[in-house]
Amino acid sequence: MDLRYSAEDEAFRAEIRAWLEKEVPAHGPPPPPDDWPARRSYDTAWQRKLFDAGYAGLAWPAAFGGRGLPTSQQLVYLEEYARADAPYIGVNFVGMMHAGPTLIAEGTDEQRRFHLPRILRGDSVWCQGFSEPGAGSDLAALATRAERHGDHYLVSGQKIWSTRAHVADHCELLVRTDSEAPRHAGITWLILDMHQAGVEVRPMRTLDGESHFCELFLDGARVPVANRVGAENDGWRVTNVTLRFERGTAFAQHIITLRAQLRKLVARAVRGAGWESDAVRAKVGRLAASLDALWRLTQMCIAEAERSGAPSLVGSAVKLRYSELSQEVAELAMRLAGDPIIGRTDLDGLPTAAIVREYLWSLQYTIAAGTSQIQRNLIAERILGLPKGR
Ligand SMILES: Cc1cc2nc3c(=O)[nH]c(=O)nc-3n(C[C@H](O)[C@H](O)[C@H](O)COP(=O)(O)OP(=O)(O)OC[C@H]3O[C@@H](n4cnc5c(N)ncnc54)[C@H](O)[C@@H]3O)c2cc1C
Repeated sequence: MDLRYSAEDEAFRAEIRAWLEKEVPAHGPPPPPDDWPARRSYDTAWQRKLFDAGYAGLAWPAAFGGRGLPTSQQLVYLEEYARADAPYIGVNFVGMMHAGPTLIAEGTDEQRRFHLPRILRGDSVWCQGFSEPGAGSDLAALATRAERHGDHYLVSGQKIWSTRAHVADHCELLVRTDSEAPRHAGITWLILDMHQAGVEVRPMRTLDGESHFCELFLDGARVPVANRVGAENDGWRVTNVTLRFERGTAFAQHIITLRAQLRKLVARAVRGAGWESDAVRAKVGRLAASLDALWRLTQMCIAEAERSGAPSLVGSAVKLRYSELSQEVAELAMRLAGDPIIGRTDLDGLPTAAIVREYLWSLQYTIAAGTSQIQRNLIAERILGLPKGR
């Protein structure tokens, strides 16, 4: 692929830069991290602004309400987005990054017509109901049951770690529809309406004192057969499409943002004492080079996804590297901040509360969306063709 940007790409850059410079400050600061209704309003209002300005779903095909822009312009957009420190996609992450793309790839015309515009406009927030107390890395062990009754399923069981389920309208839900079949052959992918009897959402508190994710208790929740994505018992194949989007292209914005974060960190370090340390400068150099390499790999993944309709398994390498580098950057920020982090009070332009918060949050990167061990297994077995571990 040609990594250089054309005159047309640069014109697009100027256009998006001007728009972001005006709109980002106008949108105001984000609400407190644990005020989830306010976070939902803030994020969906921003999504609506993007939509109205024609910047929602740049990678989505025009036939489904997106812009269908070439890869180069999607990348320009991400670079400018990070440069402008524009609001994180937040509550729209699942909808925009993997539920929507799964519907584009696997949904019916009716499902696409109904859901895609709502996701793009920020009218509908999605969550993911894959993991269960007994099914995380071994996702095919899931036990939530769906029984068919004519034109609908009745679903009962428990999900866990469902990020932002407390503010979600729909859930990409994996259920067992055939308990006699081999494990991978009895799973179905459903769209669950979260606003109904039989769906109970219980937020869980994490190490940082916030409630990012929830338990989901389902007791006879009703899902029309028309909300099934793919055939009954063909859900494992559809799940793999979702996971490829989740691991392959969904983190692109995070990766370019991490590069911007490292630059900010360096600017702060240069003003303070930390920059005098050879070890710190060497670490920064290594992180910057690694992030540049990762951005190139991400560009390849996005280009590949555009060519073939879904990201390849190389996404596992992207996700693995991104999660490790995020933790290293967060750790370096803690180290450079020094003693003031103990008080978690912002001092002399040093955002200690945010630095500690990011560090605590970074611990999850190597678990969420598939642990690092699982990504390594996938890389070893499916990309490198090494024999399966026991
Ligand atoms: C912040 C966050 C957000 C999340 N959001 C969601 C969400 O929205 N929806 C959702 O459905 N899930 C979500 N998850 C759940 C996530 O997908 C699981 O936590 C993850 O897949 C690991 O599963 P587990 O926690 O059950 O750990 P386990 O699978 O029990 O793993 C425990 C340990 O054993 C290791 N291990 C397990 N199997 C193997 C193996 N075969 N080879 C080598 N090592 C192995 C793992 O790497 C890990 O270190 C989220 C998790 C986090 C942390």
